[in-house]
Amino acid sequence: MAADAGRFAPSPTGPLHFGSLLAATASFLDARQQGGDWLVRIDDLDTPRNVPGAEDAILASLEAHGLHWDGPVIRQSERVSRYEEAIDRLSRAGHTFYCTCSRKRLKGQTRYPGTCRHLSLSAAGAALRVRTNATPIAFEDLVAGPIRETLTDTVGDFVIRRRDGIVAYQLATAVDDGQARIKRVIRGRDLLDNTARQIHLIRLLEGETPAYGHIPLLVNGTGQKLSKQTFAQALDDRRPTANLIHVLPALGLSPPAEARASTPEQLLAWAAGTFSLKALRDGPSSYRH
Ligand SMILES: [Zn+2]
Repeated sequence: MAADAGRFAPSPTGPLHFGSLLAATASFLDARQQGGDWLVRIDDLDTPRNVPGAEDAILASLEAHGLHWDGPVIRQSERVSRYEEAIDRLSRAGHTFYCTCSRKRLKGQTRYPGTCRHLSLSAAGAALRVRTNATPIAFEDLVAGPIRETLTDTVGDFVIRRRDGIVAYQLATAVDDGQARIKRVIRGRDLLDNTARQIHLIRLLEGETPAYGHIPLLVNGTGQKLSKQTFAQALDDRRPTANLIHVLPALGLSPPAEARASTPEQLLAWAAGTFSLKALRDGPSSYRH
C-alpha cells in the first residue's frame, strides 16, 4: 500500500513565484515531518488558463529548490474519467441539478440564490451544481484553528461542472484530496474558504477528509496576494538557497547566517527539523514580501 501523503497542487498558469514557493515548501516540510510522501499534482483542468511550458518550468523550479517529489507527477487532465464517475454518482443520488443562469444574471451575488434548483433543467448549455444544505461544516484547521461554515449561507449550491464541460476545481480537488492516501492538505490561506465546499463533496462521495492547514500568504507592498494576476515575478532558479531563506520566515523559521552557504536540500533538512505548523497558529495570516 502506498504511504500516507501530502501534496502540492499548482496550476500550470505560469512559473513558480515566491508565493507558490512558500506553499510548496510548507507542504513539503510537513510531509517530511509526518514521514509521508510528498506528491506533486498539476491542476490543469482549466485548459483555457493553462500556459504552454508552465508545467515544465514549475517542475524544474521545484527540482532546483530541492523540493523533490515522490512518485510520478499527477495530472488532473489525465484523471477526467474519475471526476466524471464521481459526478455520475452524485447525480444518481440526487445531489445535483442543472443551472442555466448566466454569469450576468448572477453578477454581484456571492451566494447562488437557488434559481434553478427545482426546475429539473436538462444538460444542454447548463452548468451542473451540487446541492448544499444548512448543516454547518466544522473542521479544525491546523493553522487557522476551528472553522465553521454553513454553505447555504455563504455560497449556496455550487458548480461542479462548468457550462463549457470542464470539471470544476472544487470537484476535482475533492476527488483527489478525498483519497485515503492524502492525509494532510497544507496550502495557502486564500484557499481556506474553499475548504468547506471540498469537505461537503468528500462527504457526499464517501471519501476520507484529510486534515487541512492553511498557511500565511505572501502579499506585495499594496497588500495583494502574490500571484500571476498581481504580476508576481518568476523565481530565479539560479539562487534557490537565497529564495528559500526569503520565504522561510513566513513559516516561522529564521535560518542561521551560515545557511546561505548550504544547498537547498541541506536547508530544507534543517527546516524540516525546526518547522512547526502549530507555531503558526498565533501568527499573522499574511506576510509582506
Ligand atoms: Zn441557475
